[in-house]
Amino acid sequence: MRSKILRCPACGRYTLKEMCPVCGTATASSRPARFSPQDRYGRYRRMLLKEAHSREL
Ligand SMILES: [Zn+2]
Repeated sequence: MRSKILRCPACGRYTLKEMCPVCGTATASSRPARFSPQDRYGRYRRMLLKEAHSREL
């Protein structure tokens, strides 16, 4: 039985839910998402999220 694995493009977390349970970002299938390496705001956002996650742990 195969599960539909989704991945949060913001924090990289894998989940079965359509939204990341941690940061609330809409998840996508685990293949490379439409992600721009020039998205510096996305990069900044991920840095903040990563810090937020480590604080939650
Ligand atoms: Zn996330």
